[in-house]
Amino acid sequence: MVKYLIGVLFLIIGALAWMYFGVGKPKVYQESFQLAPSPHFYGRPDLSVSKIAIKAFYFVPKNRTKRTSSEWYQVLEKSLKKLVNFNSLQLQGRSEVVYKIYPVPIVGEKEGIDYDTENTQYGNPQALLAMNREIKRRVLDSAGDLYDLDFSETEAPYRRVAMILYEGVGASGTDDAAMVSRIFLTDPEYSLTGATIFTHEFYHTLGLPDGYTIPEAVPTTEDIMGLGKQRPVEKTYIQREFLRKLGI
Ligand SMILES: [Zn+2]
Repeated sequence: MVKYLIGVLFLIIGALAWMYFGVGKPKVYQESFQLAPSPHFYGRPDLSVSKIAIKAFYFVPKNRTKRTSSEWYQVLEKSLKKLVNFNSLQLQGRSEVVYKIYPVPIVGEKEGIDYDTENTQYGNPQALLAMNREIKRRVLDSAGDLYDLDFSETEAPYRRVAMILYEGVGASGTDDAAMVSRIFLTDPEYSLTGATIFTHEFYHTLGLPDGYTIPEAVPTTEDIMGLGKQRPVEKTYIQREFLRKLGI
């Protein structure tokens, strides 16, 4: 009899314990899903472009200071804002672009011809390379004469890119810097396409190739890297094939 009662007691305790610990406890089913991988440099999965810090400049060769535009800061900022929006939309919010504009024009150490060389064809890439070198040495290096910690520092993990508004001719981009002639952002002829050209050059800093043949300039893509370079930036896009190579 006692054995029987002990057995019943255990059963009751067991049932109570089960009710206490087991009943009413919601079972949580976890869905396994993968986080979208961060976008990267064109064809380079090891080089993230999920965070980009643009350092923006107005660069004026020393013999062209009289041509200095009074609206450079506004037009540069306007184009940067359009670029940020375009990038956020096209890269589906997976790449963040922040920017800082150097508050005064950078007066070059050399004259215009020294940056341009005799050959300014194909977007004047010689001038871009020369300006990029000078900016790195004078502004971004802590020993430079125009270094300013607040401006020059790039916090990890941001990828630094220089965007240069040039008091000269051309438009070109390389893997860490791009430039457009100031004319594109102030001349009424380019009021609809100036920001598109600016943004097109920026995408060369992410490794995107041109969507047209060189030197004939016959478009081979419809997007901003090709034919779409001639449309307002709000009305163009980055084609699927390029996005894929950016990891989107
Ligand atoms: Zn291009």
